[in-house]
Amino acid sequence: MLKPERYRHFVEYFSKHQPNPVTELHYSNPFELLVAVILSAQCTDKRINQVTPALLKQFPRPAALAASTPDEVFNYIRSVSYPNNKAKHLVGMAKMLVEIFNGEVPSDLNDLQKLPGVGRKTANVIASVVFDLPAIAVDTHVFRVANRIGLTTNARTPLAVEKQLTEFLPKHTLGVAHHWLILHGRYICVARSPKCEICPISWFCKYYERNHTEAALLKAEAVKAKKTKDAKKKKQLNTISKELKKRSVDKDI
Ligand code: SF4
Repeated sequence: MLKPERYRHFVEYFSKHQPNPVTELHYSNPFELLVAVILSAQCTDKRINQVTPALLKQFPRPAALAASTPDEVFNYIRSVSYPNNKAKHLVGMAKMLVEIFNGEVPSDLNDLQKLPGVGRKTANVIASVVFDLPAIAVDTHVFRVANRIGLTTNARTPLAVEKQLTEFLPKHTLGVAHHWLILHGRYICVARSPKCEICPISWFCKYYERNHTEAALLKAEAVKAKKTKDAKKKKQLNTISKELKKRSVDKDI
């Protein structure tokens, strides 16, 4: 199957079955989402949703967070990964929002990336989810799943994946495609053992095509048969060699 066809099936399938996917992070305004996304690096959304209510109750706006200290913030986020760094980032981010951006979350990708704790991925999430801009954030799920399905070719970095997805996906689907890939990666196309047997998109997945088609299975069988044959041959040679050694010893005696 050619790449454009895969893209067409991908968009058609998910548009029909998940027309309105949303982030699993809880938030009610841009600032809250920014806080949640910064915290979510290398951590589960479930864990972040457990800590943000108390954190945001204490620091509901950028000014309140900017007036706090990393030590204070640490107490609210100690159960997430890298709490020390994230506490510093949150306070630094809030200070910059207050001092440079008038207390508002900026929509520009470059401005967003100036904020402490905000890299390209986080900036793309905010641009897409909050401001509805055509941006796609590439996290570990997006990176893996896009590659497995065959939406990307030889893309070895998140930026390369982002560029290829941006080139081939219809502009209006960029934001939702991020959620489609994340959710699919989180629940079906999981990292270690993708659940291909129950995957509804296996019929256009490149990974599945390579590993589960009749030709691929026959090839795997042939490799297995050859290994068995080689092992048998090796065993026979070992037996003959042992026998010869034994005879030579018997002769010497
Ligand atoms: S068929 Fe397997 S590898 Fe392909 S998308 Fe589905 S779960 Fe992932």
